[in-house]
Amino acid sequence: MAVDLLDSKLLEKYSRLILVKDIGVNGLLKIKKLRVAVVGCGATGSHVVDMLARIGVGYIRVIDSDFVDVSNVYRMSLVNEDDVKKALPKAVACAERAQEVNSDVRVEPVIDRVEPENVLDLLSGVDLVFDGTDNITTRLIINEASVEKGFPWVFIGIEGWYANVMLIEPGKSACFSCLIPRPPLREQVNVCDILGVFPSVVSIASSIAVNIAIRHLLGLGDYAGKLYVVNGTDVSIETLDIVRRKDCPICVKHQYNYIMKPRERKWHVRVVCGTNAVEIVPPEDISLDLSQIAKVHKDKVEAQNPYLVKLKESSLKIVLLRNGKAIVDGTTDTSTAFKVYREVLSRAGIRMPYIM
Ligand SMILES: [Zn+2]
Repeated sequence: MAVDLLDSKLLEKYSRLILVKDIGVNGLLKIKKLRVAVVGCGATGSHVVDMLARIGVGYIRVIDSDFVDVSNVYRMSLVNEDDVKKALPKAVACAERAQEVNSDVRVEPVIDRVEPENVLDLLSGVDLVFDGTDNITTRLIINEASVEKGFPWVFIGIEGWYANVMLIEPGKSACFSCLIPRPPLREQVNVCDILGVFPSVVSIASSIAVNIAIRHLLGLGDYAGKLYVVNGTDVSIETLDIVRRKDCPICVKHQYNYIMKPRERKWHVRVVCGTNAVEIVPPEDISLDLSQIAKVHKDKVEAQNPYLVKLKESSLKIVLLRNGKAIVDGTTDTSTAFKVYREVLSRAGIRMPYIM
């Protein structure tokens, strides 16, 4: 009997979940074995992680390279103002809080950003991926990884009072590229709009995503390829069937635009879309001694935790991660940002392993 596999404490803990039609003890046992990844832990990602942890999804990988900012708190779940003061990475703050919510589950934070070079590794070994990102390019990268590796994923897009949600089952349903073949022009030229989102719409869209994902994984219905369109002004959800394109270069022809290319060994120094900040990513991870950097720059340290150190450098602020990635806030001049980065490391006696 399946019940024998659960002890009485677990039966009590999930008693109302087990009572739900189609879930039961067998459903709970399946949920506890599920492994999922959440790419991006902002508004939608944090709500998804919160729900998945509460219902006991066995393993949740939370991937995000950003840290909690004061403007994030109103729309996120699982984070608070103390996380802002500590400049905690979003992945760490959400994972720690979700782990406190439910000690049965394993929540692994990954402080990284999904790129063509790392997407296959970051999204390996999971049953399903949730999209918690805020741009089309990253979704197209996830989509190619999904087609290549065969895992389903759920697209969640939000703007203001409106949201779109779609479960994609590669090889069976329309893929994301069938729906949106390429990034909008503004993303191609690295100009993006800062979009507002209303938290209740975030909550509705995240709930639809978890709803269809769990039902799909438990074999309780066919949701792939249906686009759920949420309108928070007249409070409605419309469902559109998205048709798979017969000539889709991604899910039909497997002609990828992002993944499976030779890795370029170069520094990425780019303006973070819609902000006054520059992101610096080394060709490969550098192991930085953050305490040494903080010691040398002790008068400039604004925040320090095991994952990052935040320094004030004249009119700029620089956040350095353990793997050598950095955000320089206060400029959109990539040369200035990289110069400051090199100087900060150089003062701490860290030689740059690669020259730009
Ligand atoms: Zn397609």
